[in-house]
Formats: sequence, C-alpha cells, structure tokens
Amino acid sequence: MRAWVIRGTGGLERVELARVPDPAPLRPDDVRVALRAAALNHLDLYVVRGLPHEYHFPHILGGDGAGVVADVGSAVRSVKPGDRVMINPGIPDYTCEYCRAGEHPLCVNYQLLGEHLPGTLAESVVVPEANVAVIPTLPNPLSWAEAAAFSLVTLTAWRMLVTRARVQAGETVLVWGIGGGASLAAMRIAKLKGARVIVTSSSDAKLEHAKRLGADVTLNHRTQKVSQEVRALTDKRGADVVIENVGEATWEESLRSLRRGGRLVSCGATTGPKVGLDLRRLFWYQWTIMGSTMGNLAEYREIVRLLGAGELRPVVDRVVPFTEARAALERLDRGAQLGKIVVEIAP
Ligand SMILES: [Zn+2]
Repeated sequence: MRAWVIRGTGGLERVELARVPDPAPLRPDDVRVALRAAALNHLDLYVVRGLPHEYHFPHILGGDGAGVVADVGSAVRSVKPGDRVMINPGIPDYTCEYCRAGEHPLCVNYQLLGEHLPGTLAESVVVPEANVAVIPTLPNPLSWAEAAAFSLVTLTAWRMLVTRARVQAGETVLVWGIGGGASLAAMRIAKLKGARVIVTSSSDAKLEHAKRLGADVTLNHRTQKVSQEVRALTDKRGADVVIENVGEATWEESLRSLRRGGRLVSCGATTGPKVGLDLRRLFWYQWTIMGSTMGNLAEYREIVRLLGAGELRPVVDRVVPFTEARAALERLDRGAQLGKIVVEIAP
C-alpha cells in the first residue's frame, strides 16, 4: 500500500510517500480500516523531529483517520465490513490497573497511532475494535474530512475541560492560540458547558473567524497584554480556567491570568516544555495545575454521542490530496491554519 513515512528523524524533508507492506494479519479483536481521510496533528511534527521512543522504520505517520471497515477479526461484534468509522488514535493495552479502572490514557503501555504504531497517513490501518466508532448520521452529513478531524482534538479538549477542570456554567475560560484544533474544540466545549470564553491569536483574521464560531472575547496576544485584558474583563479577578497548550511562550501570562483558586490545564508545549513556578504564588493563590492527555473510552463515547446530537462538529481548515501531505505538514508547522488540516486518501 502507499503511505507517508519517515526512514529517520529530522526535518520535514524526510517525509516521503512510499510503498510499504500491507498491515499485519488481524488479531481476534482487530479491525482493518480502508482510510478515506487523515487529519494532521502537532504530534506528527514531533514524531518527524524525533521523540524518545524506539522507531520501526519506515514509520507511517498520522494519528487521526476515518474510513470504511474492510475486515474484522473473529471476535469483533460492534462493527462489520462496510461500516463508516472514525478512529480514536489512543491505544491502551486494555488490561493494566489503569485500564481496568477505565483510565485508559494513564495506561502503562499507552500507544498512539502514528507515534508508537503505524499511522493513518496510509491506505489502511489496523486498530482494536474499541478504537473505532461508527460515524454518526446527521441531517447535514459529516464529510470524511470532518470525521477524520474529530477524534484527537475533541477527546483531548473534552478531558481537559470537563473531566479535569470541571468547567461550570458562568465561569470564564481563557484559551490560547485559537488556530489550533484542540483550542477550537476547547472553545466549543466550554461554550457547550455555558462558560464565557476568551480566545487569543496573533492573527486578527483568525480572531474574527473565532468570533463567528462562538468566542465571547478575542485578544490579539501579539498586540495586547493578555493577563491585563483578562483581569479587566473579569473585574480584576482573573479567569477561572486557563487552557494551555503553548508552554514556554505563554506560561507566565497564563498564571497572571488565573484567578485565586483557579485551574490551569496543560496538554501541550508547542513553544517549549520548560517553565518556572514560584511555589509561594502556587500555595498562596491555591491554584490547581493539571496535566491532561487524550481521553478514556467513556469520554470518547460521550463526544461521539454529542457529535451525533449535532454538537462539537470539527472545524476543517482545508482538505488536501494525498500527494500533498508534506506541504500540509509544512502549513501546520507554520501555524497558518484555523482548524484541522486534512489529507484526503481516497475519494
Ligand atoms: Zn493499560
């Protein structure tokens, strides 16, 4: 089959379209999906640049995907060949103590498609039955691109806001960098929960778009001091919840934006992972600083249910042909997008 692979880590010039062997035969619980579309994530860029785990080259990139079930293992009951499915790219072992407790993203053997396992920028992929969901039927049907764009960012944002921060109606939530898919999903989930959402970007065009998508307040973090604006917007109080995925560049401003007793949730570090923390401020202001990654099966089922109810439809920046995947990764790397960049694999 054809797939976008790397044969070593480095720059995006290492990303190549190649012929690779078809996926291995199915185990009893496996599903083989003939992919129609794959959505890009920052994770793909990190994988290309090099992560501290063992690679099996040629390594197939891509975490998010949607397609048609082509084949199922002998024990699979929930889907059958021909079903249209989207893929949850977080694959736990389903057996360790965390999995048994339903906390799959804490699994001691947690793996991600496209990072530890062969990914979705390929004509087909094999995943456990528990990692596919039938694409909900909507009056205005989801495109393959939308289905592919849904899982990773929506699941990540859901866990951050609902499970971890427990955002409440009437609270104020600050979301950095609204161009990114996880930030857009976070904005929509916060709105769904009745919160007021302040979003930032360095691009006025993106902020304008975010406003149309439901942002209550938009701030240009290049020309405005975010913490000052947040305090001005909250009677000097600060935001109840800050959603962080930027890291070094925004960390200090995130803390300055947080109210006494506020909650900060981090799911990424696109500008760098090392930040400072004055413990006196932490205990005096009684902040809660939380990490979050991906989501468990119950959370995934809940977001799929909401998608079927017409909520949380993903925002697609653009759809590019399969042969243009490298250029699409470059667009993601430049931060030029608003929403998900999707690669069409088959019509
Ligand atoms: Zn586990």
